[in-house]
Amino acid sequence: MKGFAMLKIGEVGWVEKEVPKCGPLDAICRPIALAPCTSDIHTVYEGAVGERTDMILGHEAVGEIMEVGELVKDFKVGDKVLVPAITPDWGSLEAQRGFAQHSGGTLGGWKFSNFKDGVFAERFHVNEADANLALLPEGMDPADATMLSDMVPTGFHGCELAEVTYGEDVLVIGIGPVGLMAVAGAALRGAARILAVGTRPNCVALAKEYGATDIISYKDGPIDEQVMKLTGGKGVDKVIIAGGDNDTFAEAVKVTKPGGIIANINYLGSGDYIKIPREAWGVGMGHIRIVGGLMPAGRMRTERLANMMMNGRLDVSGMLTHKFEGLESLPEALQLMKDKPSDLIKPVITISYED
Ligand code: NDP
Ligand code: ZN
Repeated sequence: MKGFAMLKIGEVGWVEKEVPKCGPLDAICRPIALAPCTSDIHTVYEGAVGERTDMILGHEAVGEIMEVGELVKDFKVGDKVLVPAITPDWGSLEAQRGFAQHSGGTLGGWKFSNFKDGVFAERFHVNEADANLALLPEGMDPADATMLSDMVPTGFHGCELAEVTYGEDVLVIGIGPVGLMAVAGAALRGAARILAVGTRPNCVALAKEYGATDIISYKDGPIDEQVMKLTGGKGVDKVIIAGGDNDTFAEAVKVTKPGGIIANINYLGSGDYIKIPREAWGVGMGHIRIVGGLMPAGRMRTERLANMMMNGRLDVSGMLTHKFEGLESLPEALQLMKDKPSDLIKPVITISYED
């Protein structure tokens, strides 16, 4: 089979590989919709998870099942399925502790395009199909459905980590597709004021649609100064970081009220340390919590998030700014993710088959 791969750090290209083998609990799928991710860019071009050789990229997909293992109970050949980016081992101790995304070690549930071949191929392998896959709901557009692999669960997880609740003032730093889903999630969880940081015009417009009340450009000076000005020196209850870099944490700490939470969902691609400003952190006693997390996955959560889309609580279609057809458009779509032209939010590829 053909796959689009990270050949080594800084280099991508097509590779030929054997079709993966299906274990008794697993499924083999072919893609019907795919989306490249900013994480693919950190992985390939920053070498953020280290060197990989000829590893097929991609972790955002909707698939059709071509083969199932003999112990799979709830899925059959021909089913169209939502494929989460994270596919944990559900029997692991980490899963039993409530952190399945770290099954087998930190970030261990993130297998696609990290520890094993990803979904940018003619066929891809899904472990523990019953626990990890969800049926594509009748009537859901497969292109929209790719946002359930990673963008929706990650952005919403930022809101869970930040424990956003009614009437709070929330700052969302970064309004690419991940941050946009954090804005939407914060509004759904009852945030009152949502300050959103970003500049791309499409992202700004969509952030407002999803519930942002104030837009801040990081190009207009330090974020903390702008937030303090807008809030009359009070700061915010919660911060969700979905963009920026290692220095963004200092800006976040400076605007967070005592007892507040800073939730990071950004993939920090380079550097060794994150600096926390001592005084703003209450000289170590400010009760300002800093947490960071990889999206949780699993069938039930994926079904629930799909349920929100099916019942009109969330419309992701506005994020899909660049649409392609056919596996062969993967290099172009990934390049867009690297270049981030000003009109880009998210590229998506649909793939149709004769049979
Ligand atoms: P984008 O690159 O599309 O968005 C990044 C956002 O951050 C943009 O709004 C950008 O502004 C803004 N930004 C850039 N520089 C700064 C700065 N210095 N200060 C503040 N904001 C800044 O990324 P995605 O939305 O696709 O992804 C966001 C992050 O989430 C990535 O690092 C990705 O790898 C990670 N991720 C994490 C996952 C998880 O499970 N935790 C899963 C999936 C992704 P502008 O409008 O100017 O471009
Ligand atoms: Zn992703």
